[in-house]
Amino acid sequence: MYNQDKEFLLKAIEKAKESVAHGGFPAGAIVVKNGQIIGSGISIGGFLNDPTAHGEMASIRDACKNLNTSNKQVLNSSSHL
Ligand SMILES: [Zn+2]
Repeated sequence: MYNQDKEFLLKAIEKAKESVAHGGFPAGAIVVKNGQIIGSGISIGGFLNDPTAHGEMASIRDACKNLNTSNKQVLNSSSHL
């Protein structure tokens, strides 16, 4: 595993801890493109009563918002969760 991957995994773990701190499921995710974090998310399904609101889904929504796009290319980025 590359050091940078380790760094990204640690960021995802931080997000999981954030999710727990908010009373959610211990899951968090970040989206990385070209070595940059472009989105992050925590598990918010319990708040929204939405079983699809997983951390990875939230991170993809965040990345699309940050890039101001709904382009499926975002899904070619790597997701760390
Ligand atoms: Zn999930």
